[in-house]
Amino acid sequence: MSRFWSDHLADLTPYVAGEQPKVDNLLKLNTNEHPYGPSPRALEAIKAAATDQLRLYPDKESVGLRQAIAELHGLNPDQVFVGNGSDEVLAHIFNGLFRRSGRPLMMPDITYSFYRTYCALYKIPTRLVPLADDFSIRVSDYTDSSPDSPAGIIFSNPNAPTGIAMSLEDISAIAAAHPDIPVVVDEAYVDFGAQSAIALLQAHANIVVVHTLSKSRSLAGLRVGFAIADAQIIEGLNRVKDSFNSYPLDSLAQAGAIAAIQDTDYLQKMCLAVTEARTQLAQQLSALGFEVLPSQANFVFARHPEHDGGALSRALREQNILVRHFTLARIDQFLRITVGTPEDCERLCKALAKIIAKTP
Ligand SMILES: *Cc1c(COP(=O)(O)O)cnc(C)c1O
Repeated sequence: MSRFWSDHLADLTPYVAGEQPKVDNLLKLNTNEHPYGPSPRALEAIKAAATDQLRLYPDKESVGLRQAIAELHGLNPDQVFVGNGSDEVLAHIFNGLFRRSGRPLMMPDITYSFYRTYCALYKIPTRLVPLADDFSIRVSDYTDSSPDSPAGIIFSNPNAPTGIAMSLEDISAIAAAHPDIPVVVDEAYVDFGAQSAIALLQAHANIVVVHTLSKSRSLAGLRVGFAIADAQIIEGLNRVKDSFNSYPLDSLAQAGAIAAIQDTDYLQKMCLAVTEARTQLAQQLSALGFEVLPSQANFVFARHPEHDGGALSRALREQNILVRHFTLARIDQFLRITVGTPEDCERLCKALAKIIAKTP
């Protein structure tokens, strides 16, 4: 720790993202990127926006993008908040909605690990709720009354890294049990098979839905995410944003994101390609003896009863195949494997078959 640091820096445990090494013949199945590129229309729009107009600041309200998102979901633009990736949107949500005089944030013990990093950054206590034995979120754990009132609730749906999705009835029950606190549903993977809680906004003013263009729209490099909620909640997020960075999205990102949002045919085609490959991959892994959790995301979460998860991950790495392994209690035997192209999945399964055959 440097004497130049602020005091709280010593206590921070930053989020560790999946690695992005520069190696030839690398098969990257570790960060849930889409195996196919973004909509060609998005690429055209980005190129068309690369003009001398870049000398000007971008639209700080991202009006066109918020309109496109609102149209897609049948909402008003004042119900849409956009940010530099959904990670930034989440950071503003934690800062703006969950800092409530020491009350804890409720979340599953196994979920997107960035949530705990934000809690440490913003000094928000956590109440971790263990997943059920089958790794699903047990609704009654969130609806039964408890002594201290939480500051809010957050989970991903489908959950990460399990891939298991919740029904809208269950999300609705959680929101109804806590009408006075925000219930944030991180839908980073919703396009791959789960139902969106956007359908619940009319009935529940406390629901906040977070989306990203990084996964299903294959634009992780563009950094665009958004939140959808009641206009009063969005107004709060705008206050945080305008106290931090008024221009989170550059002009190229806004142009590309609008085109990507509007190209719904391309989104459907690309999601279908991934979900078909997911079914194949799950079958191939099961045939190799893996237990594969039921996934509605663009990754599968799988463990082998006879082979250590960490050892499998290291052995794959020697063959330039990256998957994600978490050294966390209860899930340290699992591999989180991004669904790639059918060829990617085949290369992975062949490598796994060899590793399993070699080690007793
Ligand atoms: C990938 C992911 C994000 C972050 O997405 P960005 O928009 O790229 O910042 C957020 N939440 C979950 C659950 C994710 O898997």
